[in-house]
Amino acid sequence: MSGGTDGALDVLSRVFGYDSFRGPQQEIIGHLIAGGDALVLMPTGGGKSLCYQIPALVRRGTGVVISPLIALMQDQVDAMRALGVRAGFLNSTQEPAERREMEAAFLAGDLDLLYLAPERLRTESTVALLDRGTVSLFAIDEAHCVSQWGHDFRPDYLTLSGLREHWPAVPRIALTATATQATRTEIAARLGLQGARHFVASFDRPNITYRIVPKAEPSRQLLSFLRNEHPGGAGIVYCLSRASVDKTAEFLTANGITALPYHAGLDAFTRARNQARFLREDGLVMVATIAFGMGIDKPDVRFVAHLDLPRSVEGYYQETGRAGRDGQPSTAWLAYGLQDVVQQRKLIDTSAGDLAHRRRQSAHLDAMLALCETIECRRSQLLGYFGEESGACGNCDTCLSPPEAWDGTIAAQKFLSAVYRLKHERGQRFGAGQVIDILLGRGTAKVAEHGHDSLTVFGVGTELTESQWRGVARQLMAQGLLTVQGDYGTLELTAGSDDVLGRRREVMLRREPERPPRARAARAAKTAAPPDDLPSEAAPLFEKLRAWRAGAAKEQGVPAYVIFHDATLRQIATQAPSSLTGLSAVSGVGEAKLARYGQQVLDVLGGGQP
Ligand code: ADP
Ligand code: ZN
Repeated sequence: MSGGTDGALDVLSRVFGYDSFRGPQQEIIGHLIAGGDALVLMPTGGGKSLCYQIPALVRRGTGVVISPLIALMQDQVDAMRALGVRAGFLNSTQEPAERREMEAAFLAGDLDLLYLAPERLRTESTVALLDRGTVSLFAIDEAHCVSQWGHDFRPDYLTLSGLREHWPAVPRIALTATATQATRTEIAARLGLQGARHFVASFDRPNITYRIVPKAEPSRQLLSFLRNEHPGGAGIVYCLSRASVDKTAEFLTANGITALPYHAGLDAFTRARNQARFLREDGLVMVATIAFGMGIDKPDVRFVAHLDLPRSVEGYYQETGRAGRDGQPSTAWLAYGLQDVVQQRKLIDTSAGDLAHRRRQSAHLDAMLALCETIECRRSQLLGYFGEESGACGNCDTCLSPPEAWDGTIAAQKFLSAVYRLKHERGQRFGAGQVIDILLGRGTAKVAEHGHDSLTVFGVGTELTESQWRGVARQLMAQGLLTVQGDYGTLELTAGSDDVLGRRREVMLRREPERPPRARAARAAKTAAPPDDLPSEAAPLFEKLRAWRAGAAKEQGVPAYVIFHDATLRQIATQAPSSLTGLSAVSGVGEAKLARYGQQVLDVLGGGQP
């Protein structure tokens, strides 16, 4: 194949059927083709894969892609083969005969791309194999897995530091969708990429709406979010524990929503089957722990919901980034409450790591809390966390229905003073529930038992409701003015609390909007709502094309989007081309797909039987 960036543009249009590069793609590809090393930071859906796929097609030899996602390699290879790219993989799921065949193809120079699990590189036989063939480049996917500061650390990634020494002449490209400055430095150091060029795309995902709501009845809140805003849409619901995954999946199923569980406690077969169904069928909801999702490149995930507080902003951004890779409107929805803070602090206090590790976790939690309680634009806060400045976005809950800020100094003083008195007058420590009962002057059994009705703060807080007091407690924690400890989530004052109690510090709080923002979308529609940019006269054709695609995908045992993306089908339905040439102008229709499916698509368009 011809070299240089002309070659790259040619591959982009012939193989992938796209007419122009996105963001920094062209620069990255040119740099790699010329033999340079690169560290690439791009959000999920930004188009990272092309950055190594195209150089692998242009340069001589095989591009070796290192990925931790063994379960997804088959899909990745299928997607490449559907484009006419000669791709294969080597991992532990293969039969020896299959592996030998793949090795032979590599040695014969018959592979453009070879996907490899990182642990393979620990074996001498793999290293020897790569030495005998020609490697055009190394692509290190999910590069944040090498970082201990991050949230997906994989010890096998540490062996990748040896690539540079062993193959000094082979260009390397490391890619990740998540990295603060700290993580980026760590990735570069551990992979020996200090000399590499860094390419940082904007991390903004403008088609994702961010929403964070106070948790009241989480299952019901989730159900109404799904029904009102994404009926029939595919999505992921994240829960912290296996038990809540199972419970939530059952609850949704009982309410008529097809939901599947995924967590490490399920056997490998069930996990693989549920994942395959999520990828292949339309409109399924996956209820999962964070064990699910890395590398899932299903383009039409319409929402990502969190029923528990994520452990870090990086994790949250990575998880929510799985929504809307196709650029269509999508929602990131998180319900969070006081109990989350209690639970996470407890997890941190009892975690196995050393003090430094617990400090890191604690810093992560604080940043996450600050995001939840902000009265500013969520997106600009998120982007700010990744070092990117931006104005208010107009597409997050705080932009759409701005929470009011109010002077909560007196409320804060009341709350903290109740905690103080319990400790200093009674030598007791309690959780937020009891403190709130005291402030509200409730004569509960527990209040009577401890004689808390004789405290001077008893009943001094009736101007706020219980849920408002919970909001006060959460925000005091988010601002570092209060902390929780131990198994029972007992409250403790901090250095900052003293400033509030001593009237040296004001406390601004956010008032939750009374009504949830815009719960207006159509109810009950069982199929996904037609996307906005599809003219109504094209809708029947679009449905016909989807039905054809479903049949073709089933026949080949691949996800529907491997055949054509929704966006491509939509453009075909709108333009209704009458010739193969016309069809080839549609974005996403490259040579291989045109040859394979072109006539079938024209038949569908012409009214013939699909
Ligand atoms: P990432 O790995 O960064 O999450 P992908 O590489 O999966 O993103 O790309 C996301 C989607 O965008 C894919 O469907 C891909 O085919 C599409 N895409 C990437 N680059 C382009 C481009 N230059 N033009 C049109 N579509 C593109
Ligand atoms: Zn905003």
